Amino acid sequence: MTSLYNATDGIAVITLANPPLNALGYETRRAFATDVHKAASDDQIKAIVVIGGGRGFCAGADIGEFDSPESLREPNLMTLISLLESSSKPVVAAVHGVCLGGGLELALGCHYRVFAPGALVGLPEVKLGLIPGAGGTQRLPRVLDVESALNMIVSGEPIKSEQLAALPGQKLVDKLSVSTESLLNEAVDYARDVASDCPAHLPHVRDLKSKHPEGATFFPFAKNSVGAASKSLPAPLECVGAVEDSTTLSFEDGLAAERRRFTYLQSTPQSQSLRHLFLAERAASKVADMPQGTVPRPIGSAGIVGAGMMGTGIAMAFLNSGIPVTLLETAREALDKGVATIDATYAAQVKKGKLSATKHQERMTILKPTLAYEDFAHCDIVVEAAYEEISVKEKVFRELDRVAKPGAIFATNTSTLDVNQIASFTSRPSDVVGLHFFSPANVMKLLEVVRGAATSHAVLATSLALAKTIRKTAVVSGVCDGFIGNRMIEEYLRQAGYLLDEGASPAQVDKAIEKFGFAMGPFRMSDLAGNDIGWAIRKRRALNPDALPYSRVPDRLCEVARFGQKTGAGWYDYKPGKRDALPSDVVSKVIDDNRRELGVTPRKISDEEIVQRLVYALVNEGAHILDEGIAARASDIDLVYAAGYGFPAWRGGPLHYAQTVGLYNVVEAMRTFESTSYGASKFWKPARLLELLAAEGGKFA
Ligand code: NAD
Repeated sequence: MTSLYNATDGIAVITLANPPLNALGYETRRAFATDVHKAASDDQIKAIVVIGGGRGFCAGADIGEFDSPESLREPNLMTLISLLESSSKPVVAAVHGVCLGGGLELALGCHYRVFAPGALVGLPEVKLGLIPGAGGTQRLPRVLDVESALNMIVSGEPIKSEQLAALPGQKLVDKLSVSTESLLNEAVDYARDVASDCPAHLPHVRDLKSKHPEGATFFPFAKNSVGAASKSLPAPLECVGAVEDSTTLSFEDGLAAERRRFTYLQSTPQSQSLRHLFLAERAASKVADMPQGTVPRPIGSAGIVGAGMMGTGIAMAFLNSGIPVTLLETAREALDKGVATIDATYAAQVKKGKLSATKHQERMTILKPTLAYEDFAHCDIVVEAAYEEISVKEKVFRELDRVAKPGAIFATNTSTLDVNQIASFTSRPSDVVGLHFFSPANVMKLLEVVRGAATSHAVLATSLALAKTIRKTAVVSGVCDGFIGNRMIEEYLRQAGYLLDEGASPAQVDKAIEKFGFAMGPFRMSDLAGNDIGWAIRKRRALNPDALPYSRVPDRLCEVARFGQKTGAGWYDYKPGKRDALPSDVVSKVIDDNRRELGVTPRKISDEEIVQRLVYALVNEGAHILDEGIAARASDIDLVYAAGYGFPAWRGGPLHYAQTVGLYNVVEAMRTFESTSYGASKFWKPARLLELLAAEGGKFA
């Protein structure tokens, strides 16, 4: 059932019934239109109430119809809106929960709107590189002041119904109901009232005026500021243009212009990339071999081992979602320091007005510091974030095995160690999983869920459900050195080092890749994370005789303790208390000396080569990872890079980007690097899968 019809005492209630959030797919639209016609043709019906079943009114378009002709199949959304707007019987939208995108556009087609308090109202299309395409840009500025409407459309952020109701002169909210529970009754009463005193002309949003008192100066200003803030993205500027149209064109012409802008944006690579990542996030939570009916275990309490940088961040990720945490350290001092870090982080958020003092207190109350493993006895999950040494992991996991209750999940946050070996330290390897958080763990969205050889489906399903609870973007990875993300970045960083050996400077490399869209270049990023982390990894890898060589420059910087921002010097110099990366003479000399020792004459390297070497390094390693089954699908790899490594979302992630360049062209470039480049040229042999797809004209799956 996708729409429910119920008529009592002359009022037809049509309920959108497409769980979970009443997306407007073809079947729903068709059933809904049938119900509207039914109400129109029944003489007993005097008014119509449109409401959403379940958790909300309507979250908008059906993502399953993205880019398919189904999205426009009649009755499409524009037709539904016309149907409601032209109804000779009053139509009242009764809105609760979410009212987003096409859902809001549908509500704006109704004659009246009753909102429950706390309903989230917005037009988020810009986040997918689009503008609202069914009248949202023309109707919203007619019911709100133009600037408020523009802010909502350009930011894509939803606003609560009570805030909207409080805007001066607004015509969006005709009535706020007392509660969500009373919404339907109040909307039916409202419909009955307007029907009993039905105006000759029902109010239509399209008939209202969209006016800005100083439009001639406001819109150029808005275009300047929005254009500057969204350089690589065309959608925000199109949003401004469309809202401006609402003030200068007739409603019909504005609607036609909106459609043209929407169709243009739909075809842009930016929107295609953003929609790819949107779908990637949904696909990532599906595990192909998960037996139907696998039930995640309830997680009501968590233990954390280690109150260092990661342990404290992970503890906050749990506390922020109301999950009580038992935090364990080896010594009182380290434990106190960890608790103080958590307390100080929350205090800083309170000071900035981002957290209430009450919430701060509530979170600290559900944090239990301890030095005794026995305190983990009740925990549903324990996440280990102790030192990155296998002997430490062994000690910790043997203790967990001793004290934890049956069914408790043991997770390790290891970045580089073998999750299967760690699982073997316990008598219950099927309960062991890797949960690889990123730093700072309370902020970063990405969570790699590392599936060991023995990890049970229930544990995997619990990890994915837990990720949702603590608001992380989870991607499942198989076991390998570095998992998906760090294994790929290793090759990216190796190329960055070679580029220095060959003639580039750290600033040139960083600037080139930042211009491509990365949040931060490799050298600024290393200075932020700490150069000693990579140093330790390189030392360990150097023990493997088959390992590819690195540039010697990063080690040389670490040998003179240039660890990055934390030591005030790294790839760049830093002034005390400042984060500005200043080019360093010391670093230039280390690079020059190294080139001399290698007998390399520096050459001028183009920004284009820098970008290709760095990005195609990710692509080649990503293709190996996909081919080996470490990642289940290409879009998982793209998601890892966009959510955790600052890859520009509007380029869709490394593998999606490679497809926009053309896999044939990418492979050709790799072959050139293989034959001409300096360093580990054997890395540039294109991955088997990449070669295959390029030859066949195929696509990553
Ligand atoms: P850290 O040195 O900041 O913290 C480790 C903490 O563990 C210290 O406070 C230490 O006292 C404590 N500890 C050591 N042995 C212990 C034991 N036997 N029992 C209880 N506590 C113990 O290190 P970190 O950066 O937080 O890293 C922790 C883990 O997370 C490592 O496995 C690391 O590889 C992984 N990791 C780190 C990052 C990162 O960016 N730092 C990112 C992802 C994963």
